[in-house]
Amino acid sequence: MVLRLAAAREQAAAGVDYSPRFGARCPWCGARVKVYATQPWEGPVRVRYHRCYRQGCALAQMNVSVKSIEVDPVAEAGG
Ligand SMILES: [Zn+2]
Repeated sequence: MVLRLAAAREQAAAGVDYSPRFGARCPWCGARVKVYATQPWEGPVRVRYHRCYRQGCALAQMNVSVKSIEVDPVAEAGG
């Protein structure tokens, strides 16, 4: 359990995938996480920061922010 939580925290810090349709999901509980900061596009990549608010979620309880990474495939191909 502790190891799994450490892995979820690591993933939250390193960045999870962002879907324009479904947003980002909490690496611990799988709930959709709310955006609180959106960075400008940097090339094909855009970074957002989220928080999980699901009751009982360990990351929500610890106020761990979840980073997400969106990659635009068109920008990536065209430059
Ligand atoms: Zn969560």
